[in-house]
Amino acid sequence: MAAIEESTADTATIVAGLESTFADELGALTVPWHGAAAPDPQLLVVNERLAASLRLDVTALRSVDGVGVLSGSTVPVGATPVAMAYSGHQFGGYAPILGDGRALLLGELVSSDSQRVDLHLKGSGRTPFSRGGDGYAVVGPMLREYLVSEAMYALGIPTTRALSVVATGRHVRRSGAEPGAVLARVASSHLRVGTFEFAARQGEVLQPLADYAIARHYPELTELPTSGAHNRYLRFFEDVVEAQASLVARWMLVGFVHGVMNTDNTTISGETIDYGPCAFLDAFDPSAVFSSIDRGGRYAFGNQPAVLKWNLARLAETLLTLIDSTPDEAISAVSAVLESFDERYEDHYAAGMAAKLGLTLPILDRTLVDDLLTLLAEHGADWTGSFRALANELRGNSARLDDLVPREHIAPWLQRWQGALAEQGHKAVETASAMDRVNPLYIPRNHQLDAALHAATDGDLVPFEKLLEVVTHPFDRRDEWADYTEAAPQSFSETFQTFCGT
Ligand code: AMP
Ligand code: MG
Repeated sequence: MAAIEESTADTATIVAGLESTFADELGALTVPWHGAAAPDPQLLVVNERLAASLRLDVTALRSVDGVGVLSGSTVPVGATPVAMAYSGHQFGGYAPILGDGRALLLGELVSSDSQRVDLHLKGSGRTPFSRGGDGYAVVGPMLREYLVSEAMYALGIPTTRALSVVATGRHVRRSGAEPGAVLARVASSHLRVGTFEFAARQGEVLQPLADYAIARHYPELTELPTSGAHNRYLRFFEDVVEAQASLVARWMLVGFVHGVMNTDNTTISGETIDYGPCAFLDAFDPSAVFSSIDRGGRYAFGNQPAVLKWNLARLAETLLTLIDSTPDEAISAVSAVLESFDERYEDHYAAGMAAKLGLTLPILDRTLVDDLLTLLAEHGADWTGSFRALANELRGNSARLDDLVPREHIAPWLQRWQGALAEQGHKAVETASAMDRVNPLYIPRNHQLDAALHAATDGDLVPFEKLLEVVTHPFDRRDEWADYTEAAPQSFSETFQTFCGT
């Protein structure tokens, strides 16, 4: 795609060495662009560890030039920022042109462990893909993405990461005037199912895109031929299905609700991306929906595996012509892979659930899990707290569990669970410790995150910084962090929603 305006942004020598393999190889999917000038940029938070792993100089990032780059006002010398094109199914309906309407791919960096990653800005101003939008983002939602993505990373869940949030000094119109902000994030790439949907309708760029995605994310497949019975594209689809089945199982185990699982928010890499109206469950409830725009509950907690499979079917459709020149053959090949999704998901979920319950053996009796879920749902028990309470039960401390589910209701289940544990023959305290290593104590609690974001929007970053410290150490109990294990008050949970206006 051609640039619509000349690029005239300031340049800086910091963040040198950005590469642009995506823009160079797939120019048809990019528009060279630059960010809007920020009137009064202030760095709110920077991820020093992540910066170091990318060999970025944190002192330079904090400088005027560094903050200029992180806000999108200044272009690093030699970089060619681009807006990426993509399509997407949003709430089931197809939108042929979405693309980066308020984001830019600044370029790619190679991290200290030799991984190529994208450096990307969100909220950096209008682009040719902005449609009716203003191209901006605001402080609360950008800090939300920063904190939740870093919490997910600390939980060991594949995710994009957050490098910084800069307040721009611009007033952005939302429900009222809000302070503008730009998030800088790092991802193993920004290739989405929606990128393939866009490319498939363009035609020629599809195969180069698939080859690029394979080389970047599934390089072992480059040894396979590009055509014939054993071509690489069916295996590529299978690898994406596996990566995403594993990812959504991790969400379901930790109680994460993404909120907007449109195909443009489903990655090829298997990383969680685009934290908008996302939330962690307090009370376990498969029908939980937090997003104010998800009126039909399409992206409810319990629907996430089914919706993901639906999104993967949209990816499959884009790959048919690459997989087999005979449409029927291509359809039956992708259908077989797509049908393997359920079993892959169940395997990941069962293995994760076994670990959460201290079982090293596979769970032979799946009703043990289902019956626990039924009990937790019936009593509205706190998801995160329940697994820590079960470990405490093994230590002879039953007070926490008694707060969550009446003993007379859970006693028969406890007996079955302890019977399964007894078969393993491990010491109860050791099992409890193993459980505590996989069941987080601290997650971003909705009421605390909400309060921290309100304070930050009003200029007080202290609650945000403290919560960030806690949720990036999800398994390390500290006495002074006791408040962070508390579930939201009922009155908060009844009305809580997160907003996509972002
Ligand atoms: P999201 O819901 O953040 O995944 O965004 C969906 C689509 O809407 C993407 O194409 C975004 O670039 C675009 N978009 C979201 N917010 C804005 C905004 N304020 N201005 C322009 N485009 C936006
Ligand atoms: Mg998105």
